Amino acid sequence: MGVTGSSSTDSLAWLCLRLAETTGPIAAPGTARTVALRAVAAARRNDATEGEVAPLLADLDAELRQSGLPGGMGRYRTTPPPGVGYRSLPGVTAHAVHEVLRCPGFLRCARVEGMTWTARLDPPQCAVHDTSLVTERIRG
Ligand SMILES: [Zn+2]
Repeated sequence: MGVTGSSSTDSLAWLCLRLAETTGPIAAPGTARTVALRAVAAARRNDATEGEVAPLLADLDAELRQSGLPGGMGRYRTTPPPGVGYRSLPGVTAHAVHEVLRCPGFLRCARVEGMTWTARLDPPQCAVHDTSLVTERIRG
């Protein structure tokens, strides 16, 4: 499984969705955003390891809780809990193999989007790795 499904990749997925927003806990300049960008910079490096990025993500979580966001990053987690090997995506479970969009980064964030025609033409951006999500065929 590698790092996929670990708590760090879930936290990166949180960042992936939140960084692109113009409102929210890390949109405004401040300590939380500074800490978030530090974690992003670490995750983007080609030789990034989870051991380097995890403490930075923990810092961000602590900062968010301190700044009054109950639950920190956990509150906004959109991905299934770690350790779940099977992910069912609504609408595509009838197919043995289907396509999803996911993060292409070396230290992947756990964000997975269902494939749509719109997404195929204009893939969503991963804000952590500053690149388009890539198509991946998975067995469901
Ligand atoms: Zn991402």
